[in-house]
Order: sequence, then C-alpha cells, then structure tokens
Amino acid sequence: MSIASIVLAALAGTWILAYHRANGVAWTAGLVALSAAVTFATGAPPWLYGIFWVVTAAFGAFAIVKPLRSAIVTKPIFGIYKKILPQVSQTEQEALDAGSIWFDADLFSGRPDWKKLLKYPEAKLSAEERAFIDGPVEELCGMLDEWDITHNRMDLPPEVWKFIREKGFLGIIIPKEYGGLGFSAFAHTEIVTKISTRSGTAAVTVMVPNSLGPAELLIHYGTDEQKNHYLPRLAKGLEIPCFALTNPEAGSDAGAIPDVGIVCKGMHEGREVVGIRLTWEKRYITLGPVATILGLAFKLFDPDKLLGGPEDIGITLALIPTTHKGVNIGRRHIPLSAAFMNGPNWGKDVFIPMDWIIGGEKQVGHGWRMLVECLAAGRSISLPSMSMAAGKLGSRATGAYARVRSQFRTPIGKFEGVEEPLARIGGYTYVMDATRRMTMVALDSGEKPSVISAICKYHMTERMRQIINDAMDIHGGKGIMMGPNNYLGHGYGNVPIAITVEGANILTRSMIIFGQGAIRCHPFVLREIRAAGENDLRAFDAALWGHMSFTVSNAARSLWLGLTGGEGVNVPGTPETRRYLQMMTRFSSAFALLSDVSMFVIGGSLKRKEKISARLGDILSMLYMASATIKRFHDEGRQKDDLPLVTWGIYDSFFKLQVAMDGVLANFPNRFVAAWLRLLVFPKGLTLDAPNDRLGSKVAEILLTPGAARDRLTAGAYLPKDENDVIGRLDAAMLAVIAADPIEARMRKAQKEGKLPQRTLGERRQAALASGLITQQEHDHLVYTDRLKRDVIKVDDHEHDLGRAHREEAWPQSEAKKKALAASI
Ligand SMILES: Cc1cc2nc3c(=O)[nH]c(=O)nc-3n(C[C@H](O)[C@H](O)[C@H](O)COP(=O)(O)OP(=O)(O)OC[C@H]3O[C@@H](n4cnc5c(N)ncnc54)[C@H](O)[C@@H]3O)c2cc1C
Repeated sequence: MSIASIVLAALAGTWILAYHRANGVAWTAGLVALSAAVTFATGAPPWLYGIFWVVTAAFGAFAIVKPLRSAIVTKPIFGIYKKILPQVSQTEQEALDAGSIWFDADLFSGRPDWKKLLKYPEAKLSAEERAFIDGPVEELCGMLDEWDITHNRMDLPPEVWKFIREKGFLGIIIPKEYGGLGFSAFAHTEIVTKISTRSGTAAVTVMVPNSLGPAELLIHYGTDEQKNHYLPRLAKGLEIPCFALTNPEAGSDAGAIPDVGIVCKGMHEGREVVGIRLTWEKRYITLGPVATILGLAFKLFDPDKLLGGPEDIGITLALIPTTHKGVNIGRRHIPLSAAFMNGPNWGKDVFIPMDWIIGGEKQVGHGWRMLVECLAAGRSISLPSMSMAAGKLGSRATGAYARVRSQFRTPIGKFEGVEEPLARIGGYTYVMDATRRMTMVALDSGEKPSVISAICKYHMTERMRQIINDAMDIHGGKGIMMGPNNYLGHGYGNVPIAITVEGANILTRSMIIFGQGAIRCHPFVLREIRAAGENDLRAFDAALWGHMSFTVSNAARSLWLGLTGGEGVNVPGTPETRRYLQMMTRFSSAFALLSDVSMFVIGGSLKRKEKISARLGDILSMLYMASATIKRFHDEGRQKDDLPLVTWGIYDSFFKLQVAMDGVLANFPNRFVAAWLRLLVFPKGLTLDAPNDRLGSKVAEILLTPGAARDRLTAGAYLPKDENDVIGRLDAAMLAVIAADPIEARMRKAQKEGKLPQRTLGERRQAALASGLITQQEHDHLVYTDRLKRDVIKVDDHEHDLGRAHREEAWPQSEAKKKALAASI
C-alpha cells in the first residue's frame, strides 16, 4: 500500500468521522486502523509506527476513560474557564434564562431537523376567532377614521372607546374563565394586524393591554385574589391598564431604573400594615393618561428587614389604582403622528400595602424575570402585527396605485425602476407573514421563544420601515399630503414607534438576538456555563468534549457543504423547496462554526463587539425567516402562483445571510483565524446573488394584478368594498383600469391610423362611439374609470389656517372635555 493512498484514506476517514460527529470510541477505532495500516502495509521502521501506536493509545485512553481525561485535561481547562467566564449580573442572567427555545436551537445545531419543521402544525383560527374577526373587528375597523382621530380629536371617539371595551378587545388574552376572549396568539395577531391596517392609534390602544402589562402579568403571576378581582374587570374594560417601567434615566437599560420602594410600616384603610413607600418618575407610558390601574416597576429595599430577607430585594412589580393618594398622572406626550394616550406619571413617598405587589409577597424581587418572561412571548405579537399591517396594506394599496397611476402614458408600476421597490414590498410581506405564522405556532404550543421573538421584533419592524419607505416613494406626492385621502402618512409616522418600543431595534440586534441565542440555543454553551456555576467537573467534561466534537464536525461539514453547495444532503420537502433546505443545511453548519469560533476567540468581549454579534444574529435571523418561508409555502398547499414570492424571499434571505457572514469574516479581530474560517465557510467564494430583475418583475406583477396570489398576500388587511372609502376605491379603480385597457388600446390604434380625431379625449371618445369603434357600455366604463382614477390620485387641501379655528370650536380642550373623557372610560 502506498504512503499516498494511506494519507488519502486517513484524510477521508477523518472527514467522515468529523462530518458524522463520531464519538471517542469511533475516533479511536479510526486511529487503530491507521496505525495498523502504517505498521503492516508500509514497511515503516518500528520507531515510526511506534509513534503512531503511542498517539493512538494516548488518544484512546483520554477519549474512552473519562475520569482520566477529566483529571488530566479537563480539570485545568475548567479552572481557566471559571476565571475567564464573564461576570453576568443578576438582571442579565434573568434575561438570559427567560423564555424557551424552539426551532432556533435546530438552526444553531448545524444540522436542522427539516422534517420537524414541516411537521409543525399550521397556524389556524378557531370558528369563534374567525367569527370575532369577521364580526366585531371588521365593525371596529369600519368605525375608524385615522385622520379624524389624529388631526381633529387627538383621541379615539367615545363610541370607539365604548365599542373596544364592551366587545372585549382589552381582554383578548384573558382566559374565558375570567370573562376574557381567551384567544390564541394567532387570533391575537390577526386582530391587531387588521386594526393596524386602519388605525395605528386604535391598534396601539388594543395592543397594549394585551401585551406586556397588568393582565399578562396577573395571568402568570397574580395571586388568586388579584386575578379574581382584576381580570374580569380588565376583560370587560371596566379598568384601563398601563404598565410603567421606563424612567427618564433608564430606557433601554431598564434594569437600572432608579425608582425605589422601601419596605416599611404605614397606614392603609385605617390600619397599620407592612407595605412599601414608593418614589418613582416614569415617562412614555402608553394609556397612562387614561389608566385606572398603574402597573409599576421599581427596585425594592428592606433596610429594616421587615420581610426577613436581604436589604436589596430587586425589581418588584405592583398594581396601583391611579386614584390612590399620591399617584400623579401627568399630561400627554404626542407620539409622532398617532394619537393614542401616552404620558408621564410619578409619585413621592406613596404608601401601598404589600398585597398590591403582583403575585404578593412571594414575588418580591422577581419583577425583572416576570417582565422578560412575558416579553419573550409578547414581543413577537404586538409590533410584528403592526409591521404585518404595513406589509399587507403596503402591498395591496401600492400595487393598485401603481397600476392606476400613469406617467409617460404607462402605469408607473410597469417601469423597471418602480418594479424594484414593488418587488421588495411583496417579497418582504410574504416572508414576514411566514415568520409571523410560524412563530404563532410556537406560542400557541405553549413556548415563549425569547430569541425568536427578538428576531420577529427586529426584522419585522425594520422591514416595515423599508416597505413604508418604498410605498411612499412609489406614491410620490400622494403619500406626502396629509388629509383623509392619505392612507400612508400615518403609518410612515408610526415606524419609529415600532422601532423603539419593546426593545429598541439597535439594541435588540446588537445585544439580544445572538447574545441570548448563543447561550440559550447552543447545544453546549449553557451546559458549560451551568457546570462552571455549580462547580461540576463531570458535567463540564461532558459538555466540553461534546462541544469540541461539535466544532470539529461543523468545520468539516461547512467545508464539504460549501464545496458541494449542499447538493446530496438528504432533506425532506418538495421539488420546489428541497434545494433550499440543502443550502440551509450548509449555512446552518457554517453558522454553528462561526458562532463557536467567535465565542472561543473573542470570548467574553463578544458582548462588547456588538457589530460582530449583530451580524451573527442576522445569520440566525435569515435562517429562521427562510425556514418559515418554506414552511408557509408547504402549509398553504404549495401554491404555484406564490412561487415568485417564495423564491424572491429565499434568495433575498440567503444573500443577506452571505453579506452578514462576509461581514463577520472581514471584521474578525484575529486575521489568521479569519483566513481559515473564510476557507471553511466560503471555499468557492461568495457565490450567492440577490434576487434577479426577472424574478423581481414577477413579484411586482403579483402586486399589480388582481388574483389569488395578491389576495393571499394581503389577506387579513381591512379591505372595504366601498368605492367611497380611500382603500376600497383603490381596488375598484384597479379593476376598472384593467378592464379599460383593451378599449383604450383599440382607440389608440385607431388614432394612430388616423381614424379618430387627434384633439381632446372627450372628442375622441365621442367619435369612437359614433363610429361604432366602442359601445355605449365601453364608453361609460371609460368615463367611470376616469372618475375613479381622479379619486385615487386626489390629495387633500385645507383652509388657510388648516382648520385650527374649526377644531377648537368642535373639540375644545377644556376641563369639561377632559372630565367627559374620563367619565366615558
Ligand atoms: C410611543 C412609546 C410608547 C412607549 N410605551 C411605554 C410603556 O407603555 N411603558 C414603558 O415602561 N415604556 C414605554 N416606552 C418606553 C420604551 O420602552 C423606551 O423608549 C425604550 O425602552 C428605549 O428607551 P429610550 O427611548 O430611553 O432610548 P435609549 O435607551 O436612550 O436608547 C437610545 C438608542 O441607543 C440604543 N442603545 C441603548 N443601549 C444600547 C446597547 N447596549 N447597544 C446598542 N444600542 C443601544 C437604542 O437601541 C436606541 O437606539 C414607550 C416609548 C415610546 C416611544
């Protein structure tokens, strides 16, 4: 046997063992085979094959005899690991521990289980939920006029407040046993999405009580007494809740709030009781100005040890009636172009009894964990639903407008320059909706997927920003002039709100997605950290060696799958999507390798290397969103008409993923390691392209053409059929324009042939009618189309004082008005 063939066999064996994540016994067996081949088949001198056998014996001893390995190799590493493990504060630890992991863990594994992905159930509404959406939600949308709300009233009309409260909109998540609607997460997002397509103000008003706030906190942590008292009242809208965490000093760093509570004795309802003396200052609090109960987060101290525990107890949450003595509800903030209630509140030395703490005395100090646990689920509903509304309405309205509006005698949607943003609107909307649907499956199966919810919050609100910008560009001046005819301007104004709340986006991308993902989803990192915390050498040994095998395997897999592009990987699915799943297996391996090497080389300072962490988070996010896209296509019965959307979405995700990987490598601090990583991750270079122009045209065409694909893409938006409605008339105009096209083409041809006068349009039409070129019905249709087109392109004009005098007369901001408002809720 030649030496070359042994070297080749050794390399192949190494690769096979690494690729399949072989255990220590298998690696030892491989080394035995190699040593035997060197000994018996090469005529090597004894000293040489002796070395092989010594190495094999040493490796086998360490790999198989775990106590030996543990004592000699793992123990010193354990010592170093414990020293370099970055200090994690209690609030950081609680945030890291919050929620659960789901398919994100598969994507971190380098070998995702695609069968599992395709087997997850499909997000579906129950008959009762469907009826609520087709009934009260539809009715509510019909009552909403965002221009009147934001421009004239700066509030929802009283009848809308009444409707929202009485129909249970404030109790979507409250279980039925407490009088709430008890709906699924999917129904919840469908409701918020639909309302958001009509009014951001109403959507936020409904969203907040159903998001992180008193109801959610009470459901999970409240005492029976608190639940029985508050939940039925919240469900019926008898109480308006708000939740106050943000302090002027502490926004993103909410764990650092300076608001304090001191455990002390005080008088409550005529008796001396142990309670808390609270001092706080909060701002930006949604529904704060009209709230009847205030959920409050503060840091609790017990200097006199009245509770018998530590002095510094930690973040604690309480529910305080806003009528309680000392509670100051301030004036209103104006959140850009929306008019939902938002404002500051504060109190100084306000005494409350202990049983106002959410969950009672046993929950003191657990406030941060309670908040991050609830946020782990809620973050994937509220703002993602608002983003979905931008996608659905953006696709529907912009497609119709771009078909109806002509310039240079061509519908503007047919210009290549306009096709590009149209394709982005359509492609993003499909992927966002896929992501939302898949995430709701996780939520409705009881998961609180904290990393996935951060992915949804960040990427869906960022795409909302892009979609609205694109839609504004395509609408030109029509999107800019405010008034009842502008259906985009308010959404444009709401973008920064969605970007900022429930975890500001820069922070979410830079710190949370990968920071939390790497620890929660990685198959070994959390086990290593826990073992170090519990000083458990045995557990650390198992995790460490598992981790090493995992990294070696991902290096081998990344290289091989990079060379083959994933071809040949056994994946489920259908001909349309199988290739994508193979490619994603490759990316998952490469991502797992990049994550591991980044954590190993950059270590604890990865927390401060936010740009690297953000890009790693982008890779995970693109893998998740592409997985959701494929799942949606399968769930919806592989709709052929949707293929351009699916393909565009997948290519776009892959390209973004490649940019992120390239960015990690280009900025990796250790250039030597970066060079090796690049070889393993991109052995053939950067081979992926963004969606091409032809594909973009096909996506744009879906938005520009009435049909099933456009209807599926925009399902769930509020789409009135009424031609007098700004949205309703868009579709009517689009259909009319399309029906008018062949008539106008006939007339153009006749005109070119000199058969019609060249003068005014009216004259030409009359001549065409008189000559029998068009029928009376066709003539009438052209006139009708003209009227609709005029209505669609129309923008508002206002009095010179912009209606100020009239507004003051109709809606005086007097004390009486404020009292009437308070009485109405
Ligand atoms: C309309 C609206 C409604 C709200 N409703 C409520 C409510 O009902 N209850 C409530 O308690 N709060 C509410 N908030 C507050 C909201 O949660 C905060 O605005 C948010 O936490 C950000 O805090 P900040 O505005 O002080 O920004 P800052 O914390 O000052 O952040 C400014 C910028 O710095 C970035 N940043 C901060 N730290 C980091 C970091 N480590 N790495 C990278 N970037 C970082 C942020 O991403 C952001 O871009 C609301 C806010 C708004 C605007």
